[in-house]
Amino acid sequence: MRVGEAMANRVVKSIVPTHTVLEGGGFKVRRPVAMGSLMSPFLLLDEMGPVDYGPREAIGAPSHPHRGFETVTYLLAGSMQHEDSAGNAGDLNPGDVQWMTAGRGIIHSELPHPDFYDAGGLLHGFQIWVNLPAKHKMMSPRYQEIPELDSPAVENEGVWARVIAGECMGVASTIDTVIPITLIHVKMGPNAVLRQKIDPDLNAMIYAFGGSVKVVNRLGVRSYPLPLAFGVKQQVNDGELALLSDGDLIELKCDKAAEFLILAGPEINEPIARYGPFVMNTREEIHQAILDYQNGTLA
Ligand code: MN
Repeated sequence: MRVGEAMANRVVKSIVPTHTVLEGGGFKVRRPVAMGSLMSPFLLLDEMGPVDYGPREAIGAPSHPHRGFETVTYLLAGSMQHEDSAGNAGDLNPGDVQWMTAGRGIIHSELPHPDFYDAGGLLHGFQIWVNLPAKHKMMSPRYQEIPELDSPAVENEGVWARVIAGECMGVASTIDTVIPITLIHVKMGPNAVLRQKIDPDLNAMIYAFGGSVKVVNRLGVRSYPLPLAFGVKQQVNDGELALLSDGDLIELKCDKAAEFLILAGPEINEPIARYGPFVMNTREEIHQAILDYQNGTLA
């Protein structure tokens, strides 16, 4: 962007619907039906639940490997327990964030907390997979845990935001990301407005999981070429992922109530070879990951 040029609003380029799938052992998730490359650098965006478990019904993912990317778990309700091959262990409660960089390899389990398993209750949250560029795929595993109490949050004129990664309303996250990532949980009340700056080099998207939020295409400032946005609904409803156009500003308006994630990150312009829990660049690297896992040398 040239000096003196007006801010360009990002608008909705396309709306990706979600479908509900049963993941690993019957775990209910809501997942946008998008090609991985459209969501770059995000490989997966799973809304876990909300699901109300009876006593001893909750399901998790026992010991399994990952290589080549990061898993981000953010819990809204319920309680989970994590353990991995790098010696990290921790509980995950509402508002807590776990940012796990699998890098060259990690084996972990993601299970309901034993107390939660026994008692049952509501489980709701997110698991997001963030791809790593080739040069970082084999980095040493890293584990960051941000408990709710230390998680930066901000509230201003009907807008509440938890800044998991990036910056919002002058508040910065504490997480250290490998590539520049924005991940913000936002709740907006009646007639609230949020103007969120996003680096023009990053892809940006909004995933709504409650109510609906409007994306403002402000005429009068340089905005996305009209024909490209023409006919695309500039409103994101519960269960929709909106892929946004280029620009440096997301301007959001809410009539009644809305709850959503703002996600942004760079386009990783590299081939993706994907097999279950491994995401690499070539088939050879996938074969190697499988061999390493079988030989016990992955992690
Ligand atoms: Mn996992």
